[in-house]
Amino acid sequence: MQEIEKIKKRFEDEILTVMASEIKELEIKYLGRKGMIAVFFQEIKNVPEGKKRKFGQDVNELKAYIEEIIKARLEEIKSQENLKSLEKDKIDVTMTGLRLSNGAPNIITQTIREVEDIFVSMGFDVMTGPEIESDYYNFEALNIPEYHPARDMQDTFYLAQKMLLRTQTSPIQIRTMETYKPPIRMIATGRCFRRDAADSSHFPIFHQIEGLVVDKKVSFANLKGTLSEFAKRMFGKNSRIRFSPSYFPFVEPGAETAISCVMCGGKGCPVCKYSGWLEMGGSGMVHPNVLRNVSIEPEEYQGFAFGWGIERIAMVKYEIPDIRMFYQNDLRFLRQFK
Ligand SMILES: [Zn+2]
Repeated sequence: MQEIEKIKKRFEDEILTVMASEIKELEIKYLGRKGMIAVFFQEIKNVPEGKKRKFGQDVNELKAYIEEIIKARLEEIKSQENLKSLEKDKIDVTMTGLRLSNGAPNIITQTIREVEDIFVSMGFDVMTGPEIESDYYNFEALNIPEYHPARDMQDTFYLAQKMLLRTQTSPIQIRTMETYKPPIRMIATGRCFRRDAADSSHFPIFHQIEGLVVDKKVSFANLKGTLSEFAKRMFGKNSRIRFSPSYFPFVEPGAETAISCVMCGGKGCPVCKYSGWLEMGGSGMVHPNVLRNVSIEPEEYQGFAFGWGIERIAMVKYEIPDIRMFYQNDLRFLRQFK
């Protein structure tokens, strides 16, 4: 009996000083198959008859006691470790964070969206088409046969099998007229390519916005009204449109379109070279041959079309002096339009 008391005391001392890593050892020492408790059980047979029962009870109690203490100690160690790791992983919420700068759509994308919004509000559909086009859609169907000198102005990058990088978004007009019956009211925006040497107003890659309306009784007056409204909403309510006769194979009559100078309002300044006007792109009434190419009867339907450069629109609106700036990826330039 005294021995049991002694073992209990010894265990109580040891459990207090034991390291976390030694707990398992301690458990084996007392509760293992050859541990101290097991030795007591073996001793039962040597205990005098009258005391056997009490001895057995005491040993069982000691075993339960040791088991309970070890379990409690293990739990205590575990929660201390949790605390330690919490301490270690502590986050200082007052520390200055890493500031991530937000991106924004490129100025070209912004301009395209702005243009699209204006035309959509006027009832136009937005159409798209492939950047790799066939010679037929880019030239032939637009009344520019193979021998035509107008091809010189739109020299491009040719691929195999009469495919090429489109020089204009006009092929989308052809594709739309092939697919849908009049009345048609559409714009097309997208990237175009020409074999142009880069200078302040030319770049081998650029973007266009083109419009096409085909219906009965469509006149040049409708073209003027549409572009005037667009110019007012894009460049300010005092903007005016000027048409001057010009030649494009896919329109007849054709006109160069200009807007009143956004800098001087038409009085004349260095930006407009003292003319009071800024040229924006071509326009005109759709050539009967183009309508015939897509099986629309020119006696019954007429159409008007126009094509302006997106970069040109952005340059005029935001006073950007050089088209190459759009493609230099200089963050100092791009950040101005966030
Ligand atoms: Zn001016």
